[in-house]
Amino acid sequence: NHLKKYFPIKGGFFGGVTGNVKAVDDVTFKIERGTTMGLVGESGCGKSTTGRTILRLLEKTDGEVIFNGEDVNAKSKKELRELRTKMQIVFQDPYSSLSPRLPIGEIIGEAVREHGLVPAAEYDEYISKIMKECGLQEHHKDRYPHEFSGGQRQRVCIARALALNPDFIVCDEPVSALDVSIQAQVINLLRKLQKDRGLTYLFISHDLSVVEHISDTVGVMYLGGLVETGKTEDIFDNPLHPYTKALFSAIPMPDPDLKKDRVILEGDIPSPANPPKGCKFHTRCSECMGICKEVAPEPKDMGNGHVVRCHLYDDK
Ligand code: SF4
Ligand code: MG
Repeated sequence: NHLKKYFPIKGGFFGGVTGNVKAVDDVTFKIERGTTMGLVGESGCGKSTTGRTILRLLEKTDGEVIFNGEDVNAKSKKELRELRTKMQIVFQDPYSSLSPRLPIGEIIGEAVREHGLVPAAEYDEYISKIMKECGLQEHHKDRYPHEFSGGQRQRVCIARALALNPDFIVCDEPVSALDVSIQAQVINLLRKLQKDRGLTYLFISHDLSVVEHISDTVGVMYLGGLVETGKTEDIFDNPLHPYTKALFSAIPMPDPDLKKDRVILEGDIPSPANPPKGCKFHTRCSECMGICKEVAPEPKDMGNGHVVRCHLYDDK
């Protein structure tokens, strides 16, 4: 709710704070249990920072995060440690997020042991079971990350998260570093795990076709803010915000008859340290009106949970 994450800019003559990078600036959304919300937008728009701030890997500047009815930011260090088992993250790069010095069984089980999640006598069997569930062969337990392909390493990362028996996983570009042929396998694994375990995902990606495939709902971010949210089919079939339209017009269409007019976005993304006044997209919007330069648009509810922030629309 109204989540903000600002990073202070240090500098100036006395080395003081001269401003803020508003990486996440008043973001509100809700993910129903057992569903996936895709978060899309150009790189640097605040997707990853949103995911990390939700998990308190970064401390928020303002706003609140409610998980299973509990205020995540009100937790003590100790409570947060427990909560962390329920809220996990899978990163983009399965190469750098695995310690090269540990065998994969150890990588998957390290936190399980730390948290004492399973009795010592059942530990080995538990790790084998998790590995199998993630499509890894249990007799590979003693091998090291460098002995595996990128796709298998990402399975190890997923197994490590899953071993803690989470309810919610932030998947931050989990397939972006993988070959296209491998991406579908990892996506299918994530879907299967969701179905079997009732997991909830925040799926961060700049790849719109992957997001369309995996998400129940979608949020579109621009310059630290959500410009449009809704059910996946509504966002893809009927995008309303000029930014969403431009972003989605770049998706290659398999059927040439369905070809949409490609909207080319002019200009650079403005700096999040100094975002434009009014609608933050106005410097690049082909439909910009006078009011857009002065007044930030409020969220408009277009029905069926489809919400857009743009002066072109009124509440339904
Ligand atoms: Fe474009 Fe105005 Fe809508 Fe912003 S509010 S997206 S500038 S039309
Ligand atoms: Mg990112």
